[in-house]
This record gives sequence, structure tokens and C-alpha cells, in this order.
Amino acid sequence: MLKLLPRSATGQKMSAYTAFITGPRRTEEEDGPSEFHLVLLDNGRTKILKDEITRETLLCIRCGACLNVCPVYNNVGGHAYGFAYSGPIGAILSPQLLGTKVAADLPFASSLCGACVDICPVKIPITEILLRLRHRVVEGDAVEPAVAPPAWRASAGVIARAMSISWLYELGEQILKTAQAPFRRGSWLPNLPPPLSRWTMTRPLPAFGATFRGWQRGRTPAGRRRQRQIRLGAIAFASIAVAFVAWALTRKRSE
Ligand code: SF4
Repeated sequence: MLKLLPRSATGQKMSAYTAFITGPRRTEEEDGPSEFHLVLLDNGRTKILKDEITRETLLCIRCGACLNVCPVYNNVGGHAYGFAYSGPIGAILSPQLLGTKVAADLPFASSLCGACVDICPVKIPITEILLRLRHRVVEGDAVEPAVAPPAWRASAGVIARAMSISWLYELGEQILKTAQAPFRRGSWLPNLPPPLSRWTMTRPLPAFGATFRGWQRGRTPAGRRRQRQIRLGAIAFASIAVAFVAWALTRKRSE
């Protein structure tokens, strides 16, 4: 481990933070403590041990190799993680030490590319643990109850349903393409209304473009007819939705 730690991190022979503890001074020694007390702080680690998957986090030797290869860490930097531990190991350790109520966002701060799993010298299954913690945040488990806001969970349920029904998914695609028109500037959506404006405050969103199915359908007359029908359905749906929102707002104002 003494060799593994620095070589996985900076390539040195020995890390600067390895401590050798030899206990109290022996009779023939001139210096050193007369007594030696070792205090181990649990700090929530017993709780972490409860979960058979996430407990692997405690194998970490703090080499930092996963930070060096993480594309998210390389773009956002250490302070963005908000707590002492950053990078992929911080994204799995902080929510367990502090609780998902405090650090619920961290398990989602990952593209799940798995570069950290490949590089980790002690083979911690970081992506698997990230998924487990995401599940804990949204659904809750034996360790902690769910902490995701109800609106978040409801919209995730709607999206999951829509993505599993082909025609509904296509309708959603068309609705998005129609609804984006007022905000579209070329291939980008630079200014979206709230709550999506939080994303476009710092970067534009790529506009929804042609889909593979749409492109394929456009190659035959029957397919083009079907595409027109889907587009008309989407426009009708969007118009009804806008009319409903306008009606609800007018009603609320008059009350
Ligand atoms: S998770 Fe693995 S790669 Fe990351 S700091 Fe810990 S031991 Fe090193």
C-alpha cells in the first residue's frame, strides 16, 4: 500500500503524508512519548458499513488518481463539490458521511464514464456506488429515506413512462421541437425561460434537431404522411396546453 498510494497519485516513491506510529518510547530511547493513546473516530463509518455495495468506499487510500482522470472534476474543479472530499471519491463519500439530505446532488455529478473505476488502485466500484446512492436519494433504502423533492420524482416518473412508449416519445419530441421555436437561435437555445434558465445562464443548450426516425420516415410518401400527422398532433397538443395555462392564469388573477 505504501508504494501503491504515491505511485497512483503523483508518481513519487513515498507520499508526504504517510505517518509511522511506533508507540511509546522504549527504555533505551532518549526521545518520544511515555504513553501512547490511539483514538479511532467512527464519524459515521459504521453506518456506511451497513450497505454491502456502498461500504466499498471505505477501501479508499486517498491517492487521488480518480480525480486526475475524471472529466467532471477536470471541468468543475474541487470547490464545486462543496465539501472536504472532491472528485469521484467525494461524490460517493460525502453523501454517506454527511447524509444524502446534505449532499444529495453529488451522486448525480457524474457522467458514469467509468474512468475512475479503471484507474482506482484498490478497485472501488465507484459507478456502481453512484447508482446505488442515486437510488437512495430518489427512492430511499434501509440506510436513509428518500430526499428528492416530490416534483422531481413525479417528473422522472413521467419521463420514464414517456420514454418507454414509442408514440408518446415521438409526440414529446415533436412538442419540444415546436415549443423551442421562439427561443431558437440557429442551432442553439441561448435563453430559456425558468426553470431551464439556470442552465442557459452559463451555456447555450443545443436545439432539438432532426431525429433518425424522422429522417427515415421522410424517405417514403407514407412516412411523410405519418410525420405530418405527428406534427399536427404535437401542434394541437401544444395549443391546448398553452390555452389551458392561459385560462388557469386568467382565472387565478380574477379570484
Ligand atoms: S477512490 Fe480509488 S482512485 Fe480515488 S482516491 Fe480512493 S483509492 Fe484513489
